[in-house]
Amino acid sequence: METLLLPGADPATAAVAAALIRQGQLVAIPTETVYGLGADGLNEEAVARIFAAKGRPQDNPLILHICGPEQMEQFCHHIPQKAYDLAEAFWPGPLTMVLPARKTVPKRTTGGLDTVAIRCPDTSVTREIIRLSGVPIAAPSANLSGKPSTTTAEHVLHDHNGKIAAVVDGGPCRVGVESTIVDLTEDRPRLLRPGGVTPEQLIAVLGDLVVDKAVTAQVDKDAVVKAPGMKYRHYAPSEPVVIVSGSREKAAAYIRRHFVPGDRVLCFQEELPLYEGCSPLSYGREADVNTLSAGLFAALRELDDPAIHQVYARCPVGGGVAYAVQNRLKKAAAFHIVDAEAEE
Ligand code: AMP
Ligand code: MG
Repeated sequence: METLLLPGADPATAAVAAALIRQGQLVAIPTETVYGLGADGLNEEAVARIFAAKGRPQDNPLILHICGPEQMEQFCHHIPQKAYDLAEAFWPGPLTMVLPARKTVPKRTTGGLDTVAIRCPDTSVTREIIRLSGVPIAAPSANLSGKPSTTTAEHVLHDHNGKIAAVVDGGPCRVGVESTIVDLTEDRPRLLRPGGVTPEQLIAVLGDLVVDKAVTAQVDKDAVVKAPGMKYRHYAPSEPVVIVSGSREKAAAYIRRHFVPGDRVLCFQEELPLYEGCSPLSYGREADVNTLSAGLFAALRELDDPAIHQVYARCPVGGGVAYAVQNRLKKAAAFHIVDAEAEE
């Protein structure tokens, strides 16, 4: 099939994309987080096509994208006041909530769970596609399963050209890492995945937040976890990645000592001069963590090259959005971290 590239700014695009969604086809949609591989979230066959196109494990549930909090009741029940508070504070935006699912949501969409993840994205063309299609759009990140997420229409075409009906081109994603996921089905709200809405912002609204252990540590693939997506290898280029922590100078000294031809260095723009001759690739400025989140996946995709032997990566420290960048980079590195301050 020929994959249509639909410009996000073209006023005709939303109607064309919505018609394809209604027909059960796959349409990649731009959001402020990453590009999603979208389909009618209430149509089992359409949802099955998402899993097939990505090579995604069946038990890894999808996020339902809706137009706003007024649609939550259609797909969720026992919605706590906290959910409305979060929607008021952060929607449209990079926050996904896990709530008890109504029977209208197919098990294929929820990966067999009786809960469903919902979000209202902050891209107007995508909300218009949802509105015109008349259905919630189920969409995981539009990458092939296990690979770094897609943050441009070109990334989506690289992974899916000829296999999906259309890509809506909304330009590079503003946030660049997937949405923050909060589980609201227990007494205490639980952070399942950090993202553009930070733990600090969540606590300001909720007054309380438990951080799931899968956020900070490697989860065994047979483990029973709250967000099934967290146990799979993620975001990873083909070669091993190792994070080198510590001061700029100590890290550079460590990496330069161990660097061999065929290795690459993934660093902050401010550090490029320290890695002359070591094929450095910058993913953003350390002084502005939003540039790091926006640039991370494009850089990881560039480094997904069988000719590369190993990647040494620099990771921002601290909370806020840096917390989400740390999470993705640690997963890409399978939690392999070397402390340059402790090494000679
Ligand atoms: P992706 O769209 O690729 O970011 O993947 C969606 C993420 O949402 C995965 O990590 C899923 O595990 C998570 N997710 C979706 N639905 C649920 C749910 N009902 N409960 C917990 N996590 C969910
Ligand atoms: Mg994904």
